[in-house]
Amino acid sequence: MNEYQEVVDKLIRWYQKNARDLPWRRTRNPYYIWLSEIMLQQTRVEAVKPYFERFIKVCPTIEALAFTHEETLLKLWEGLGYYSRVKNLKKAAQTVVEEYDGSLPSDYQALRRLKGIGPYTAGAIASIAFSLPYAAVDGNVLRVMSRLTADARDISLDATKKAWEDEITLMMPKGEEGTFTQALMELGATVCLPNGMPKCQACPVREFCQAYRKNTIMQYPVKSPKKQRKMEYLSVFFLAEGKKIALCKREEKGLLSGLWQLPNCPKDLALPVILREWGIISGEIRQIKTQKHIFTHIEWHMNCYYVNVRENENKTFLWLDQETVEKQYALPSAFKKIWQEGCSFLEE
Ligand code: SF4
Repeated sequence: MNEYQEVVDKLIRWYQKNARDLPWRRTRNPYYIWLSEIMLQQTRVEAVKPYFERFIKVCPTIEALAFTHEETLLKLWEGLGYYSRVKNLKKAAQTVVEEYDGSLPSDYQALRRLKGIGPYTAGAIASIAFSLPYAAVDGNVLRVMSRLTADARDISLDATKKAWEDEITLMMPKGEEGTFTQALMELGATVCLPNGMPKCQACPVREFCQAYRKNTIMQYPVKSPKKQRKMEYLSVFFLAEGKKIALCKREEKGLLSGLWQLPNCPKDLALPVILREWGIISGEIRQIKTQKHIFTHIEWHMNCYYVNVRENENKTFLWLDQETVEKQYALPSAFKKIWQEGCSFLEE
């Protein structure tokens, strides 16, 4: 047995003993694997679990997902962030219903053509659900592999990722493709950790790890520094007319596209000017605590206001009571604290 095969073998045995019991691992249902992988992008496992359980109750099949109203899906997704993921899930589900009779295709290229399924997700579905030899390479896997082999290629480059996809695909053990994929993911998530020291003493492949042998673990993975986030400064308004609160929709393109939000504008616009532009004459205005929200590439700094609306000629906002919004509308996390504070003023 060569060294690579031994690593693969050890990882698989370790995974079989140590895998965490997660709802989507109790099945090989391709839909569940797909959904969990999409939810897990940028989100911790513990946070995903309740969302996953709730989602499959409402949408137990791909067909159900395809026919569920987008507003309901956004509400199910509320708090997970990156809402384009769930919009793409719905679009892909519609394609699966139209073209594949409601079942995900067991073909890597066909999976890749579905909206929102990139190489990582296609590799995960293909290997875990269909036992096909395709790698699923994300940040966790790149970190593990670069430490294991003391590989100094920059993991933020697409070329490095692609090279690892090819190399891991060649390592895939026949008949255990899915277990190997999950073993690599699990090692990265629970042992070979990012940000600080990995738990090498608990690592099943420590004896093969080049970085461990050379005592150079902290040098891997090599990653070029991220670009600085763009700062945006906003004024955000909790406009209350009696018990009704204004919501408006974001544009269909860009950050949080097409989602509901609290009305807002660039911070440098004067308050009376913007309120007049919206057709609102205000009574009392209270300042709510300044909020900051960090997205992947943008940082919002928000000056927030509770505005008691005295006269309202606005034709563009939706005016809804608190209960309706909380039951039926998905409000992005960036606005949550402002919403809660605004609602506390309503009760006074
Ligand atoms: Fe990661 Fe340590 Fe295992 Fe190497 S020995 S793969 S650094 S956990």
